[in-house]
Amino acid sequence: MNSIKIIIAGPRGRMGSEAVKLVTNTGHFELVATIDHKNDGMMLSDVEGFQSIPNVPVYSDIEKCLLDIEADVLIDLTTPEVGMYHAKTALEHNVRPVVGTTGFTKQDLEELEKLCFEKELGCIIAPNFAVGAVLMMKFSQMAAKYFADVEIIEMHHDQKLDAPSGTAVKTAEMISAVRESKKQGHPNEKETITGARGGEYDGMHIHSVRLPGLIAHQQVLFGSDGQTLTIRHDSYNRGSFMSGVKVAVETVMKNNTFVYGLENILD
Ligand code: NAP
Repeated sequence: MNSIKIIIAGPRGRMGSEAVKLVTNTGHFELVATIDHKNDGMMLSDVEGFQSIPNVPVYSDIEKCLLDIEADVLIDLTTPEVGMYHAKTALEHNVRPVVGTTGFTKQDLEELEKLCFEKELGCIIAPNFAVGAVLMMKFSQMAAKYFADVEIIEMHHDQKLDAPSGTAVKTAEMISAVRESKKQGHPNEKETITGARGGEYDGMHIHSVRLPGLIAHQQVLFGSDGQTLTIRHDSYNRGSFMSGVKVAVETVMKNNTFVYGLENILD
């Protein structure tokens, strides 16, 4: 089997550095370049923390990278604005994006889906690559058929840029697909501190907690007369996301469609 040639955008980041380990430690994956806005023109082995990884050039400009380097897949773990540009540019150059970056808008997703269709290329966007988190979303969707009242509490480290988390939005979307629309809480409820009831999605409330020490955690609370059900997932390190990244890279090479959410590619 030919190895899958991979570019990683955001290699110095918390997720990106785990992805570098995954790619360099996986026999049929090959790291062919990285995109890093701060180390243009260097070799990855000259960047702190990557001394043991030879022959991988660093580019700040993805367009230039894709003209110079032959690649199959781009793994993007950066920020929403730049991640969208990277994913689009990759598709335009016939490279398949696997995007873990969160915070994409509905329009971004539609634009990428259209481009995938035109180029007949696979693209996987997954707000959460942890298999346990995907199960948490699926179990929440199952529960929502029986419990219309739900609150989502997502908890992340305090360096996270977007709120609510991509996982919380995706959970709300999945719940909304099976739950009868309902505005929750008392009809006359009033916030004495703005935001106390969290953000609202189709009548459900989403609360974002940001604290140092946390990684990525979410609980979905359901309530009905005399009972509550809590479904919770915790990621304690970024390694928890990498088995999902591996499956996504392997799958994106076989598919020619746009996929949003890891749950759509797991059995
Ligand atoms: P992080 O540690 O801040 O890493 C982001 C990296 O992107 C940094 O190294 C940053 O470099 C780099 N970057 C910024 N602009 C860039 C550009 N123009 N070109 C290349 N690199 C650029 O964040 P993280 O915790 O790794 O998270 C990264 C993304 O993944 C976020 O959107 C986060 O929400 C998401 N995430 C997804 C999952 C999932 O399972 N899908 C799980 C966790 C996190 P500088 O620091 O030098 O600016």
